[in-house]
Amino acid sequence: MNRLPQPGTTVAPKACPFCRSPDVKTTSKDVNVSTYWRCLACGQIWNADRLQRGGRTQTYRY
Ligand SMILES: [Zn+2]
Repeated sequence: MNRLPQPGTTVAPKACPFCRSPDVKTTSKDVNVSTYWRCLACGQIWNADRLQRGGRTQTYRY
């Protein structure tokens, strides 16, 4: 776990935007607006770009 913050591009969420659980982790090595995040509590997967467009949320299952 040596994820370094990158000012300007880092959009790492502190909590799940859906259930507010802090148990979120990324599925990607790079952290940017298109990085997908997964909530370990509710199972939602999202990225910052999708959130900013507002409204539509989609659940991806692997
Ligand atoms: Zn959640």
